[in-house]
Amino acid sequence: MSETEKFVKTSCKICRRECGMIAHIKNGKIIALYGDPDHPVNKGALCSKAAASVQFEYDGNRLLYPLMRVGKRGEGRWRRISWDEALDYIAKKLKEIKEKYGPESIACHTGCECEEHVYLDRRFWDAAGWPNFFNGWGVCYAPQAVAQIYTFGVPLSEFTNAFDYWEKTNLFIIWDAKLPEGQPSYMGAVPRRILDGAKCIVIDPQLTPLATRATMWVQIRPNTDLALALAMINVIINEELYDKEFVEKWTTGFEKLKEHVSKYTPEWAEKITDVPAETIRTIAREYAQNKPSYICYGWCCHHTQYFQFARAYSILIALTGNVDIRGGHILGWPRSPMIDDGFLAFDPRLGLRDKRKIPEVAKEFPAVYEALKNFTALAHGLMKMLRQGKVKALFVDAMNMPLRTPTYNRFVKDIESVELLVVFDVYLGEVEGKIAKYADIVLPAKTFLERDCLSIQLWHKYGIIHVRQKVVDAPGECKSNFEFYTMLAKKMGLGEYFPWKNEEELFDWLLEPTGVKFERLKKEGYVQVGEPISEKTYEKEGFPTPSKKVELYSSILEKMGVDPLPTWHDELMLKQDEKYPYIHTSYTPARQHSWTNWKAVRDLEEVLEQDHAYIPERIALEKGIKTGDLVYVETKHGVATYKAVVKKYIHPETIIVSRGNPEQAKIIDILDPIDPISSFMAERGIPCNVRRVQ
Ligand code: SF4
Repeated sequence: MSETEKFVKTSCKICRRECGMIAHIKNGKIIALYGDPDHPVNKGALCSKAAASVQFEYDGNRLLYPLMRVGKRGEGRWRRISWDEALDYIAKKLKEIKEKYGPESIACHTGCECEEHVYLDRRFWDAAGWPNFFNGWGVCYAPQAVAQIYTFGVPLSEFTNAFDYWEKTNLFIIWDAKLPEGQPSYMGAVPRRILDGAKCIVIDPQLTPLATRATMWVQIRPNTDLALALAMINVIINEELYDKEFVEKWTTGFEKLKEHVSKYTPEWAEKITDVPAETIRTIAREYAQNKPSYICYGWCCHHTQYFQFARAYSILIALTGNVDIRGGHILGWPRSPMIDDGFLAFDPRLGLRDKRKIPEVAKEFPAVYEALKNFTALAHGLMKMLRQGKVKALFVDAMNMPLRTPTYNRFVKDIESVELLVVFDVYLGEVEGKIAKYADIVLPAKTFLERDCLSIQLWHKYGIIHVRQKVVDAPGECKSNFEFYTMLAKKMGLGEYFPWKNEEELFDWLLEPTGVKFERLKKEGYVQVGEPISEKTYEKEGFPTPSKKVELYSSILEKMGVDPLPTWHDELMLKQDEKYPYIHTSYTPARQHSWTNWKAVRDLEEVLEQDHAYIPERIALEKGIKTGDLVYVETKHGVATYKAVVKKYIHPETIIVSRGNPEQAKIIDILDPIDPISSFMAERGIPCNVRRVQ
């Protein structure tokens, strides 16, 4: 190998799985990215998104310098400025806005890609005394974590059962989750286990690639998952299929639950879900009798009864004793040995956690805020404030809000009252729907391949800390979040909260208690500093709930005025009518994390059906629609244009569109409808219509 050619260990940051990666560098450029065969998560596999990030890295449209808007908002006229000028301008405007409108008027919304640095953003907001900090959880996973906290005391560790644990799983329920298709490097373990003889039940309105290989495909009407889960609980209790020893010793509220679900019979659920009663019985029996079994939940949750569905499947997990066992669901998340668990925001020396103020919008949804005090997972609240004209300064980092917190058309109007919109991004606005296009100041960001980073995500599962290191130099004047917030803090008199000279010094400080230096991590990729997650941790001190047991019946929720047992609310079902006779729902091939910038990767655009609407044969016949036709999909929020793909195996009243693209963002709205407990946007089960473009 020549001197100018080398292989560098790093890890992928396109999604939260953080697969190990090896970058092949030649003459200072990445020529290929491979999966790291030694890495415990992916063991050498990478998914298409990760492999395609080379194209992303060298796309000619990278943002290289700070820009200031000179034309009207969204017009696309800019002036190149220096970092110094950008930071002076931002600092001055922030001081003015705080003076004039108060600290609640300054908000930040971050996404997933910068997650290792999200704590720097949070730290900055806490140090400045601004309460309105929001992260990507609000459009993703938060209600599930919250429901699990009220049930188990802590969230279940997300997808804990990496390869090794799934070896023990006898049955998977893939509940409207496209993860095995979207993240094959990680979730590819599921199809492999099917080949080895594990059972798999796919619950989904459409026949997915995985469903073709599954033991059962259960076609469900969107937005009715709670009814199915309640009927499964009914069967498991009535037929005494539950884990009696676990239920007796480790749960509270069983008798109340038994009485409560007696009305939720499979026959009752059949009318709501379109799943035959006998099939519901079969799923419940299979799930209870093939322990360890694992429920992988996905977009099925994103509807008006999201929180209570998450409570119901948590109860299914508990009733069957599938909690905290390998092959089932593991309780998360143990603290790591790093300083304050590696969470920069909570620096114990500075008491930042105690300084934090509760955002006003959080008080409307106490179940979420009380459970997740450290994370402001209320994207809904931010959008509401925007719509009310209360946000005057907005920072957006790794979150493409027009697409992730739609409605797109409304969003463009809603930001008119914002006096300072700062976007930290990799691209400007060539891809439709990018927020950078509407910014006052755009700052060029480094990609995950251009900056050093310490990742603690895998600590919780494997006891390892691993590295995501710079493999190439960033182009132009791109900077990392660390560099940006450190510079801005100095300009704003908050330098004491960002005392580190560089990222390495910061990481070494965080790593101090482990005895591992960042330099070593860079060489080795990851270092084992603790034990991997173990089973039945509750046996020592009980579950971290008030009763020390799994709370099937939640007295905390009851005190908040929330149903203490998951309850079906028919009034939350969105009714189809003559104008909107079908049901809109969405799916994602899970490749649009990180600013939705992967839309800019042309190879991916070609292989994935991103701008397609799946239309059932019957509707296509009635409407004269053929595969390849352009169609309008309409909801009360607007009209989107898609290419039709006529499908045979899809719920007969359902139109399924891909999620996270500008068209879908025109027909759903983060504020209407929502799950009234979690505030989460419902984007499934929305009445719609479809017609061919003439
Ligand atoms: S699943 Fe794919 S996108 Fe996610 S971290 Fe692994 S390789 Fe990257």
